[in-house]
Amino acid sequence: MPNQSIQTDILIVGSGAAGLFAALQIPAEKHVLLITKKEAEQSDSFLAQGGICVLRDLSDYESYYQDTLKAGHYENNPAAVHTMIASSRTIINQLLTLGVPFAQENGTLCYTREGAHSAPRILYHQDQTGKAITSCLLEQAKQRSNITILEHTTLLDLLCQQNCCYGGIVQQADDTIATILAANTILATGGIGGLYSHSTNFAHLTGDSLAIAQRHQVALKNIDYIQIHPTTLYSQKPGRRFLISESVRGEGAVLLNAAGERFTDELQPRDVVTQAIYQQMELDCKPYVHLSLLPIKKETILQHFPTIYQHCLEEGYDITKEPIPIVPAQHYFMGGIQIDLEGRTSMQHLYAVGETACNGVHGANRLASNSLLESLVFAQRAALDILAQNEPSALFWQTAVQLAANVQPNRYLPAQALQQTYQQQVLEAIQLEKGKHQHE
Ligand SMILES: Cc1cc2nc3c(=O)[nH]c(=O)nc-3n(C[C@H](O)[C@H](O)[C@H](O)COP(=O)(O)OP(=O)(O)OC[C@H]3O[C@@H](n4cnc5c(N)ncnc54)[C@H](O)[C@@H]3O)c2cc1C
Repeated sequence: MPNQSIQTDILIVGSGAAGLFAALQIPAEKHVLLITKKEAEQSDSFLAQGGICVLRDLSDYESYYQDTLKAGHYENNPAAVHTMIASSRTIINQLLTLGVPFAQENGTLCYTREGAHSAPRILYHQDQTGKAITSCLLEQAKQRSNITILEHTTLLDLLCQQNCCYGGIVQQADDTIATILAANTILATGGIGGLYSHSTNFAHLTGDSLAIAQRHQVALKNIDYIQIHPTTLYSQKPGRRFLISESVRGEGAVLLNAAGERFTDELQPRDVVTQAIYQQMELDCKPYVHLSLLPIKKETILQHFPTIYQHCLEEGYDITKEPIPIVPAQHYFMGGIQIDLEGRTSMQHLYAVGETACNGVHGANRLASNSLLESLVFAQRAALDILAQNEPSALFWQTAVQLAANVQPNRYLPAQALQQTYQQQVLEAIQLEKGKHQHE
């Protein structure tokens, strides 16, 4: 019997943009319990630098659609791409209403461009777009009386039976095990960067939901589709790699080899630029190449990229005066728990949204600045799908109570060891999937 049992209407796992936006769709009469592994601000959503895409006007639809498909090697789910693009303006308007301070000039929104985009269609706030969006969502969530946020609370397993989810089993801040009974559960646990030694992600993002889903035969999709970001600041220190946003290349920054010469078109899709860098590193026999921001005006650097400027300065590089060493690193997870366009997984009453989910919108490779947008669009759709359901029956809650009573906390302790097992399990599943794709 676990130490504690909590009941809620909707359990949301993860306090990134996807989890928070889903929570904000739920009206006051329904209770949301949002749990998160560390502090609420520790999500990749806070790290997003470049921006968020939007359909500027209908004349850009075809071009935006084609750019997304081309970057995704035409493996994208066309319906998901259409849904994301068609919903983008509404989502941005909602963010503006919530007070997200996207860059504007004379009252008009500014649009920037990144690799593989054939037109400027990305909204931004300096080089801290993710923080601007997610801190605003978090602030709103904290003000809602129907949303409870529990930090340092980690999902360890699903409370489920016969392919139906009744909530989750969690490790609480004091290390005790509790059960959360929920009519619906949304997994929004982000990416898998914590499984890699070189990644731009927070180290605690280890794909826990994937391991848990796999345990209960919930369908996964494309889990070997992992994006490497071409440009992170080269460092020999351990820990998260600092991203040098693609938008610096959109604004004119160039890649240089050891002889100080350009060696590729910097605005190709990420995977193509990454390959070109790896090849150049081999030719130069160096663990990095250089990125020069010197073609960008100093005032643009200071205004548009203050965080990158400051961070590089702290690492000993003045980007307004000299090129910086950069190296590719794990960045984004295109695969995940298989979902449909409403965020539904293969298990009843279980949803997945954001980076941990996969409806095929990104295909084999994500187009820059599509992920924040995708997270918000499909998080909203999942929440609305939940709201359209009938209330669960008395039998549903009786089963949930029964399942919770049967939980044996010792099976989940020590939780750290269990999490290590999960990590190994996810890495093995990725390898297995990779092998399958190679033989196809
Ligand atoms: C450096 C960087 C720059 C980026 N730049 C951009 C950009 O410019 N534009 C763009 O569109 N995208 C960008 N991205 C990608 C984008 O930020 C993410 O894809 C997106 O924010 C994912 O949101 P999410 O809500 O799914 O996950 P996250 O924001 O990562 O949130 C995941 C949450 O789940 C919690 N969690 C994980 N496991 C558990 C568990 N077992 N129990 C409880 N809680 C758990 C975490 O603590 C966290 O709160 C960038 C990513 C990085 C790393």
